[in-house]
Amino acid sequence: MTTILPRKDVVIVGLGWTGAILAHELTEGGLDVVAIERGPWRDTATDFNIGYAQDELRYGIRRDLFLQPAVEAMTMRNSTSQTALPMRDYGSFLPGNGVGGAGVHWNGHTWRFWDSDFQIADHLRDRYGAGRIQDLQLQNWGVTGAEMEKSFDRFEYLAGISGKAGNISGQIQEGGNPFEDPRARDYPLPPMQMTYAPTLFAEVTRSLNLHPFPTPSANLSKDYINPLGIAMGQCTMCGFCERFGCANYSKSSAQTTILPVLMKKKNFEVRTDSEVLHVDLDASKKHARGVTYVNTSGEEFFQPADMVLLCAYGLHNVRLMMLSGIGQIYDPNTGEGTIGRNYCYQTNAGAQVFFDDKNFNPFIAAGALGQTVDDYNGDAFDHGPLDFVGGAGINCIPSNGRPIQTRPTPPGTPRWGSDWKKATVKSYKSTLGFSSQGSSYPTRGNYLDLDPTYTDRFGRPLLRFTFDFPDNDIRMSNWVSDRMEDIAKAFGGRQYTNTRRKKGWDSVPYQSTHNTGGAIMGTDPKTSAVNKYLQSWDVANVFVIGASAFAHNAGKNPTGTVGALAFHAADVIRQQYLRNPGQPLVSA
Ligand SMILES: Cc1cc2nc3c(=O)[nH]c(=O)nc-3n(C[C@H](O)[C@H](O)[C@H](O)COP(=O)(O)OP(=O)(O)OC[C@H]3O[C@@H](n4cnc5c(N)ncnc54)[C@H](O)[C@@H]3O)c2cc1C
Ligand code: SF4
Repeated sequence: MTTILPRKDVVIVGLGWTGAILAHELTEGGLDVVAIERGPWRDTATDFNIGYAQDELRYGIRRDLFLQPAVEAMTMRNSTSQTALPMRDYGSFLPGNGVGGAGVHWNGHTWRFWDSDFQIADHLRDRYGAGRIQDLQLQNWGVTGAEMEKSFDRFEYLAGISGKAGNISGQIQEGGNPFEDPRARDYPLPPMQMTYAPTLFAEVTRSLNLHPFPTPSANLSKDYINPLGIAMGQCTMCGFCERFGCANYSKSSAQTTILPVLMKKKNFEVRTDSEVLHVDLDASKKHARGVTYVNTSGEEFFQPADMVLLCAYGLHNVRLMMLSGIGQIYDPNTGEGTIGRNYCYQTNAGAQVFFDDKNFNPFIAAGALGQTVDDYNGDAFDHGPLDFVGGAGINCIPSNGRPIQTRPTPPGTPRWGSDWKKATVKSYKSTLGFSSQGSSYPTRGNYLDLDPTYTDRFGRPLLRFTFDFPDNDIRMSNWVSDRMEDIAKAFGGRQYTNTRRKKGWDSVPYQSTHNTGGAIMGTDPKTSAVNKYLQSWDVANVFVIGASAFAHNAGKNPTGTVGALAFHAADVIRQQYLRNPGQPLVSA
């Protein structure tokens, strides 16, 4: 039996980064909001307590804070000629679960995508001709960098980002990223104090005429009080950051930046341990009535609401749309349908340099403490003579020296035994790593849909990935790896390694939780699922917020842009949508 609950103005699915931003903004606008969160309540004092927050086995290896496949698995294959099989363990990416979402255990690299990303198809066509991108399904996002600037700024000030501006109102700033778009003002906090490895990386890359700058970080360089009046503390560089909650109130998350204010509001409520099964549509299939969810006791509820916001993480947003019948599922054979279209990932590679005479003290670290060069990112360099588009940031961000997982050894070292032990002892403190984080561009054959065979514990089809790295992206990544080899040699170490990205996406080794696309934004309902305000083209009182909206992925982490899109959508809901609720903000 389904219990029908009293109506709310807004129901939000998921209380991670985007859910918390939207909940705060819309309650400020006077709306009565309920968030329904699949995982448990999580708070710093009780859940990331200093006494046990740094339990590497529990959090780093057994991934206590993450979504487990028994709750929701996904199936994967590299091409339509294969049969997709379920991931029995999340590996390649690690979705979040519980209040705060993946924002609890993220690293905190906080980037802005560029105008040349938002207008990528026009930009690349104008610069290199249409032929250069004909194998890719690149399309504009429907917004410009200038339109997004205010929202980026709001996210960065909410989160207390530490960094150095590279371009303020068109003036290039010494020490910042000279390739970034103009911003109105500097970051709220100065860059973090650098440890030895990124300091050396900056010296070496500068000697190669590159332009290193401090990676913008959501690990706070100083104490900070954000615009909501919430105080955070300076990061202690504890090195238990990615995969861990921060015990120190130093990593920006919903917990440290929004919830202390949001939870006191009378017009806000969260229901945890409650999984939304689908959005309920009316008979016209053009209007959402609310959502159906089930709690851990198996009780089912219908929550009626005037507006539904999907903030469940990009992949879950896409699956919920498919399970609810919102829009048409993408078909790669015909190119019709938009839900599942343009799924993209991240095209990464890594290098290590082994020294005899250096001590990097790798345990003094934070999730986003490091240096980056963007000289080979996006379209910051001329692709004219090259055989690819896109690029990668090169990052030296030694995020931890944790004893179980961080054991660099040079090639040729046995994988166990006394020689392995000796090599670990020798290399632990004297190895420097850096990596490329590359763009991932859409193709017709990379997409998400519902698996025809495998179902979850409620009998609903799992999300199916059909994905492999496109040839363009492999060429890009290998070209950037060659540049990384130049950098590795310039360090003058004893030995170096330099991995190269190969075809055949493998869902086992961790790569990044930067899954993008599937419900992309755009200007044409035939090729995008949501309009430029993240409003569904098909069901006007549903907004879909997250990296699901990315029409492609850049060589950057997504959350700065995800957070900005959340503010962008919140603003338009408050300023325009509520004047004429239920109506499309953009005519099709
Ligand atoms: C290990 C790791 C490191 C990362 N590092 C970085 C980084 O350095 N920089 C960066 O930019 N990004 C990083 N990310 C990605 C970043 O965490 C995400 O981009 C960000 O959290 C996305 O915000 P969101 O609101 O879309 O989703 P989330 O923050 O994940 O929130 C979604 C919420 O929805 C809930 N939910 C899902 N389905 C349902 C349902 N059916 N019913 C109810 N609730 C549901 C989930 O439990 C979750 O709490 C990292 C991620 C991981 C896992
Ligand atoms: S490294 Fe800093 S931000 Fe990260 S968990 Fe430790 S104290 Fe918190």
